[in-house]
Amino acid sequence: MYDMLCPGCGHRTAMMILDELIENHKLKEKVIFALDVACCSLLIDFVNYDSIMCAHGRVLDVTKGYKEIRKENIVISYMGDGAAYSIGMEEMLHSARRNDDALIIVINNGLYSMTGGQKSPTYIDVKSQNDRITTTNSLDKPRQVYNGFLIENVISKLPINYLARASLTDKDNIDIAKKYIEKALKKYINIGGFNMVELLSPCPTNYKLTPKDMIDRINNEFTKIYKIMEFVDA
Ligand code: SF4
Repeated sequence: MYDMLCPGCGHRTAMMILDELIENHKLKEKVIFALDVACCSLLIDFVNYDSIMCAHGRVLDVTKGYKEIRKENIVISYMGDGAAYSIGMEEMLHSARRNDDALIIVINNGLYSMTGGQKSPTYIDVKSQNDRITTTNSLDKPRQVYNGFLIENVISKLPINYLARASLTDKDNIDIAKKYIEKALKKYINIGGFNMVELLSPCPTNYKLTPKDMIDRINNEFTKIYKIMEFVDA
């Protein structure tokens, strides 16, 4: 499969998981990908399904509109953490509050990757205490501490059906990711409502790490804050 993603990019792993599930459940004719822009948009060249490119952060609005008129379709709402938790946070909150029919995949690498690695709300820098002190851009403003943004603290009490977090690092974690995504998919098909899986995802390019060091960093540092677990399973 040809793609334009960087070596070691987690988007590729996420797409392979989704591909496998769609194939196994024979859903190809029903699936529509609602893709956010930025690195998510690179998937459009090799996604072998109908797809819609959405304005940044507006994937859940497009999903809702689409499901209103084409209820029979399975819309996979695919976005990065910047779109999900910053630019599209309003959409996220209201979609969760309404328990909209949605199957949501959030690729969390803590960055706005395509535009050069600006820090998103989920950014954490935990290499050392000093490294936690950082700025978001070249303005070199006063020091800020990035503790990360935990979506489970915000939407778990809303009437959603499923919320989980997994990681796209090694085989064991990818197996957990598959299990959670399959569960979300089945709930979405059988019950409907708001079903979301966040995936901790490597972006070696912007962290300036080798793919192996990037995986170690997620496993050893990110997961201290971003717990791998199911938060809501209604
Ligand atoms: S910049 Fe990061 S998220 Fe984007 S394709 Fe490269 S590794 Fe993947």
